[in-house]
Amino acid sequence: MIFLNICPRRLPLRTDASMLFDCLALYLSCLFGLLALYFACGFAIARANARHPERRIQSRSQADIVAAEIRQSIMSLAQIAALLAGGLFCQAKGWTLAPIDLAPARPLSIVWGLALFGLSLVLYDAWFYWGHRLMHSRRLYRFHALHHRSIVPTPWSNNSDTAVGTFVEQAYFLVVPFVLPLPAALIILHKLYDQVTGMIGHAGHEYFAAPTARFPWPMLCTTFHDQHHGSFRYNFANTFSIWDRLMGTLHPSYDQTVKRLELPAEAAHGD
Ligand SMILES: [Zn+2]
Ligand SMILES: [Zn+2]
Repeated sequence: MIFLNICPRRLPLRTDASMLFDCLALYLSCLFGLLALYFACGFAIARANARHPERRIQSRSQADIVAAEIRQSIMSLAQIAALLAGGLFCQAKGWTLAPIDLAPARPLSIVWGLALFGLSLVLYDAWFYWGHRLMHSRRLYRFHALHHRSIVPTPWSNNSDTAVGTFVEQAYFLVVPFVLPLPAALIILHKLYDQVTGMIGHAGHEYFAAPTARFPWPMLCTTFHDQHHGSFRYNFANTFSIWDRLMGTLHPSYDQTVKRLELPAEAAHGD
């Protein structure tokens, strides 16, 4: 992966010009990587949706705003790339916590890697839940309303948000190297995972309804965030359902809806 190669554990201190070049190269790698993933996932999900209309979650329709969402998403991804590259650059310069070196942990390095990755997922879930709830407050909702133009989400709506909304929800990737000694590869892996699962969460069609996506399991499926777009008041998390269950913001019909969607499409939609 390009940005793994240009992001060694610690970049030597060099002149301002070469530091700027390192920073720019890292930023462009993050930007093109995220854009490539956005379009690859978007087209793959759109193609699956066209083949499986019976898996559509909401029956209502809305005006086609895909072109506007893609334009806005490109701007947001440029911002997200800056946040990700900023965190990685600070870490590479040694300005953050020193990342854990998993190599000496062999043969358990994969286990340690998974444990650290899981810890990052849990931390980010809390960051996203509270940041997202903040964006729904009376004062800040105007900075998040753009994302909610999509009442029936499509994969292209995942990154369609204002600069303030994007910063509040995604600054985790800038901050995490300062609070968790995550190796750069795991930070990048987490962002890629977040990008893919975020787009699946906006698919508008349900492909992952399963008993493990509802109570008593903490995992969730596409229906979770789809209900957030449909109702505005519920389901603020995006990785686990734990915070919404604890804080009483889980959509009242979430578990039942997932259970129904586990059935074959004809039975699930009652036709
Ligand atoms: Zn929202
Ligand atoms: Zn959304």
